[in-house]
Amino acid sequence: MEDFNSETDSDYTSYWRDWFVSSRGNEYFCEIDEDYLTDRFNLTGLNTEVSYYQYALDLVTDVFDLDADDDLREQIEKSARHLYGLVHARYIVTTRGLAKMLEKYKKSDFGKCPRVMCDGHALLPVGQADLPNMSTVKLYCPKCEDIYNPKSSRHASIDGAYFGTSFHSILFQVYPALNPEKSSRRYEPRIYGFKVHAAAALARYQDMEREDLKSRLAEVDIQHRFIEDSESDGDAFEYDEDYAEGRTEPAKNQGQAGDAASAPMEIGN
Ligand SMILES: [Zn+2]
Repeated sequence: MEDFNSETDSDYTSYWRDWFVSSRGNEYFCEIDEDYLTDRFNLTGLNTEVSYYQYALDLVTDVFDLDADDDLREQIEKSARHLYGLVHARYIVTTRGLAKMLEKYKKSDFGKCPRVMCDGHALLPVGQADLPNMSTVKLYCPKCEDIYNPKSSRHASIDGAYFGTSFHSILFQVYPALNPEKSSRRYEPRIYGFKVHAAAALARYQDMEREDLKSRLAEVDIQHRFIEDSESDGDAFEYDEDYAEGRTEPAKNQGQAGDAASAPMEIGN
């Protein structure tokens, strides 16, 4: 304990990433591997985006060694968080990053869909822009394919660019079996049991459009992923073995859903 100062310094800067991901409000982030952070190639272009770049990087990689006053220290700390976020967006679309985020998704670390018909399906973080300071992070539900605001204000203030616009789509491209069946259930407003006219007309229109979509998909030999689940089947988050082994769709439209292989839809061609 004779060299008290340097001892506390090194303690303070140890395991910055560990501290960061376990801090309150940072639950959406996974821990970036040291190997990834120390490979300069992965950080290309970030030196112009982050002030005090080198100090921030040193802090994130636990080699920070500067006798800075509190003001400067705070600036560097802020830069480090920004740098971590920007690298995070790149890291989570790598194989390792996807696997880490998948674990968090399975534990519903990002929350559950607030839509009643989604039966509490797990959400994924999504950005509406890939550039920082444009918009805050939103949550994507793969079941209803819509995005929602985070409940907690701590999460609602996180920059969306720290997750990016493509992460959730890439996750389901890499793990297609995890993409849930789309639900055709929807809420129908009623007045004393009678359907409200405008809403009923809209529902009929949506039904017609869906049937049209299904037949167009069938024409080009694409297996649609709608299921008839008017009864709650309580399978909000069971996509494990059954799916992976290619369980067939419940055949309700004979001739349409029956024969096509349960191949996931290819996006982008
Ligand atoms: Zn949903």
